[in-house]
Amino acid sequence: IIHINDLRKSYYMGQQELPVLKGVSLNIDKNEYVALMGPSGSGKSTLMNILGCLDTPTSGIYVLNGKDVSKMEDNALAEVRNKEIGFVFQQFNLLPRLTALENVALPLIYAGIRKAERNEKAMRMLELVSLTDRYHHKPNELSGGQCQRVAIARALVNDPSLILADEPTGNLDTKTSYEIMDIFNRIHSDGNTVVLVTHEEDIANHARRIVRLRDGVIESDQPVKKVSSQV
Ligand code: ATP
Ligand code: MG
Repeated sequence: IIHINDLRKSYYMGQQELPVLKGVSLNIDKNEYVALMGPSGSGKSTLMNILGCLDTPTSGIYVLNGKDVSKMEDNALAEVRNKEIGFVFQQFNLLPRLTALENVALPLIYAGIRKAERNEKAMRMLELVSLTDRYHHKPNELSGGQCQRVAIARALVNDPSLILADEPTGNLDTKTSYEIMDIFNRIHSDGNTVVLVTHEEDIANHARRIVRLRDGVIESDQPVKKVSSQV
């Protein structure tokens, strides 16, 4: 569903050009589960933001589900984003004044779905992330792990074709991180395509494939070797 060829991205600070992605080529198929790794500053978030249609490349091709989105205008890009992408952030990015249920239902408002149906669907998503007893809590009344569950439910509610997560466990303790990874594993098993960024090998090993960025280029791209722990 993702086809990227010679993707480049520079930021401009006044006259100064700062090249960040320096020719990235990558294909990701439907139902793949990819971990994106690499040192701080190597361009992971920059790449994720382009994959998520939050930003466009300076040059190169990005085809998502057969559509070339690399040169789209903001409006068209936002439409693709709302339809095709579920994005999970390290900082959760929930709206503080809305309840868990309202946060999850929010993308459905933009999709023009009626309130009763919105709430019903949002509840189903919160069930999926095992947060049924916190519908009416606001983000500051939830733990970090619970906030991330809400954010994942929100990312899934529109039934996107691509789930992206930029360090979804970066603000969580080890135990909570593994609970969140169980959810991503389940999302993948349900047939979704998942790309997530992490600094931790243990987290990355949940995926099926690890792509490593270094200094704006792909340094390696390998399947995860599954060690069978059962005898
Ligand atoms: P981390 O692991 O720390 O999250 P990263 O791999 O996600 O790092 P990016 O956030 O993609 O790295 O940033 C890559 C480089 O681009 C950095 O040097 C950063 O300073 C620069 N950069 C990122 N966003 C911008 C921006 N909006 N304007 C200018 N420079 C930026
Ligand atoms: Mg980053």
